[in-house]
Amino acid sequence: MTDSNPLVRIEGVTKKFGDTVALDNLTLDIARGEFVTFLGPSGCGKSTTLRILGGFERPTAGRVILDDVDVTLQPPEKRHVNMVFQDYALFPHMTVRQNISFGLELKGMSKADIRLRQDEIMSFLELDGYGDRYPGQLSGGQRQRVALARALAPDPALLLLDEPLAALDAKLRGQVQQELKAIQRRTHKTFFFVTHDQEEALTMSDRIVVMNHGRVEQDGTPEELYFHPATRFVAEFIGETNLLTCEMRGQDGEAIVMDWFGQTLKGQSQGHRPRVGDTITASVRLEKLGFHAARPDHKNAVKGTVVGKTFLGSRMSVDLMIEEAQGARLRAFVDADVGQSVGSEPVWIGWDSDSMAVLRE
Ligand code: ATP
Repeated sequence: MTDSNPLVRIEGVTKKFGDTVALDNLTLDIARGEFVTFLGPSGCGKSTTLRILGGFERPTAGRVILDDVDVTLQPPEKRHVNMVFQDYALFPHMTVRQNISFGLELKGMSKADIRLRQDEIMSFLELDGYGDRYPGQLSGGQRQRVALARALAPDPALLLLDEPLAALDAKLRGQVQQELKAIQRRTHKTFFFVTHDQEEALTMSDRIVVMNHGRVEQDGTPEELYFHPATRFVAEFIGETNLLTCEMRGQDGEAIVMDWFGQTLKGQSQGHRPRVGDTITASVRLEKLGFHAARPDHKNAVKGTVVGKTFLGSRMSVDLMIEEAQGARLRAFVDADVGQSVGSEPVWIGWDSDSMAVLRE
């Protein structure tokens, strides 16, 4: 994303720990009011980026610009940045009010102003009535809101969130995800959220940066990453997909034409232009495959036989064997009634070339 005046600009940041390159020449802008998620597997450099933004770690090379000021060498307390930690790091011997006032006292605010701000933020985060409780007397979701209240109280320009929902059980987690997103919308604050959970990233983010080995694999909206993955890593890391090993045949306008075990298919790439004869991998999401009684026009189409079905409630996952493609397999995700309607007779499977992404390895 380009923004003439982004809130944060990470410029060519590299971080090495001995021989380990945790971040490899990372360049990234974060716009004001954006909910950006850093997503990637363990060890890809998420926490290191967050710690560099927070001022807890210095880069080996590169700069961090915050609100047009170079903060690369500034200590955490000098930056308009606050952080919510995975375990919330609430002070157990302090009440909710005292936890919230911690950052405000550090800012040198008067007692009266602190009281006003505490009331404001507690009401905003629906914590009225909990001010005198200790963290041990709160539910997981409430503790999470107190951690957020404490981090937002000093009005930081940027809020860093390090897997803040990891400690919550699945049900509460879903609820808190919605809450957190709503709070971000209402405050118009810039959130930099770190997670290894792809579903969480898809649900909450305006923009997702997928990291792998200290580098950006792909940067885009949740929809772009899900439906138009640029690399094999992104296609496999986010959601479930069909990966088809094909041979590059040529181009038809913007579309890439490929051969899949004797079947001609068309797809799109994100700027990746393979050479004729190259082996390429293409991805098509399960829910993009549809069933047809006759060969559909203007679509990729192959004939398949159902070899397995899994009932998932309103939907069904159907495994298909494609005899004319040397017995290759595809998996489709369809409405349960559609899944029930296909049986032992071969069925045409169709999908648009727009939904077939040609990947970089
Ligand atoms: P996780 O999801 O497990 O928290 P991460 O994506 O946040 O992983 P980082 O913590 O940023 O990954 O680590 C990136 C790489 O740098 C890893 O290989 C890690 O072992 C290494 N690393 C991080 N901090 C240090 C350190 N203080 N000393 C040595 N190596 C480190």
